[in-house]
Amino acid sequence: MNDCLFCKIAAGEIPSSRVEETETLLAFDDVNPVAPSHVLIIPKKHIGSCLELAEDDRVMVGEIHLLAAKIAKQRGLADSGFRLVTNTGPNAGQSVFHLHYHLLGGRGMSWPPG
Ligand code: 5GP
Ligand code: ZN
Repeated sequence: MNDCLFCKIAAGEIPSSRVEETETLLAFDDVNPVAPSHVLIIPKKHIGSCLELAEDDRVMVGEIHLLAAKIAKQRGLADSGFRLVTNTGPNAGQSVFHLHYHLLGGRGMSWPPG
């Protein structure tokens, strides 16, 4: 999509601190981390949010979870725990309208979220 920030990051047009990359996914550090480890995992293709997922995206969504687990283990978060979250729409505070999962770890987190 022409004017999408995360499409530009996926294409390398906007720099990012890349963590992992697969054929379909990119993981990079959030520019404004809210936890000691704050990684964003995105599909390289544009999908506005989880509401726009199609049947064909089933495998890709599974890969997001596998990649999150891989990064969490790499960063030593497996034992302490972490959170994997995708904000969708205004009530959740979604600010970038390209599907992304926040991988948050390295500190205790409250529940329910604010
Ligand atoms: P949302 O609020 O949509 O769930 O999350 C968007 C996330 O993207 C925020 O945590 C924000 O800090 C991050 N973000 C916004 N612009 C950039 C950017 O240019 N680079 C990186 N690495 N992260 C960004
Ligand atoms: Zn996009």
